[in-house]
Amino acid sequence: MALLQNHIAAVTGAGSGIGRAIASGYAREGAQVVLLDVNEKAVAEAAREIRDSGGKAQSFALDVTDRGDCISVATQIADKVGQVSILVNNAGIARRNGMLGAADAVIKDWDDIVAINLTGVFNVTHAFLGALRAAKGRIVNIGSIQSFVHLRTPSSPAYTASKHGVLGFTKALAAELGKEGVRVNAIGPGFIETPLNEKVRASDPSLVKIFIDHTPLGRAGKPEDIVGPAIFLASDLSAYVTGSIVMADGGYRTI
Ligand code: NAP
Repeated sequence: MALLQNHIAAVTGAGSGIGRAIASGYAREGAQVVLLDVNEKAVAEAAREIRDSGGKAQSFALDVTDRGDCISVATQIADKVGQVSILVNNAGIARRNGMLGAADAVIKDWDDIVAINLTGVFNVTHAFLGALRAAKGRIVNIGSIQSFVHLRTPSSPAYTASKHGVLGFTKALAAELGKEGVRVNAIGPGFIETPLNEKVRASDPSLVKIFIDHTPLGRAGKPEDIVGPAIFLASDLSAYVTGSIVMADGGYRTI
């Protein structure tokens, strides 16, 4: 039997990259998938692609930084689709400016990155909390190797802080919700080829080489590499796993 049969799974940032791949993977495992993204056109197309291959999928436009929007979309989903039992907090952005750049750029990076990558995770989780508690649901947050380290390549302190925050939030929520049967875990992707890093891959091969040279498996990841861990953490296969982070980084953090 499919691993996610009878589940309704909401995935943020599902119009692109990792979120899109997770949504498709969940649909293949029998879940009804609700794709959420600030990019309405992309997420509608991603949902159509899933339906065209026989899956169950709907899409809603959602900006995770807008708390009111999160509550309104969660209410619409409850009315039109049903009770969400799996939430994947995946929407995120990355920038590579350090702390020593022009002050206005550094401040904008901090505000934007923390608003989307960390406060966004809080906003969406809070909006779906009632449904997830009622369903004894599962939350999967997308962290990073930067949930632990700051990279050897240029990266912003805001991104590192936001992904450390995602791991901290994951642990705090797992501790608080465990007795209610809600499990909360994270995935730490390594360097995954998605539109998020398309420009840097095209313009700076030496940076990509630094990642690959430091990755025991010797290659960059693909969005599909994150799907298995995401299915594991959402399914009963991980029934006794909570407060954990599954690293899907080709071994990056081990050396
Ligand atoms: P991606 O291809 O850029 O996809 C991210 C999606 O999130 C995009 O559709 C984006 O829309 C959307 N989004 C941005 N801001 C949003 C908002 N305010 N509300 C709702 N949706 C929003 O990136 P990805 O590589 O798949 O990244 C997904 C997650 O994995 C992120 O949390 C990222 O930090 C994490 N991650 C990625 C890597 C990697 O190497 N790719 C490594 C570690 C962790 P727009 O395109 O319109 O902005």
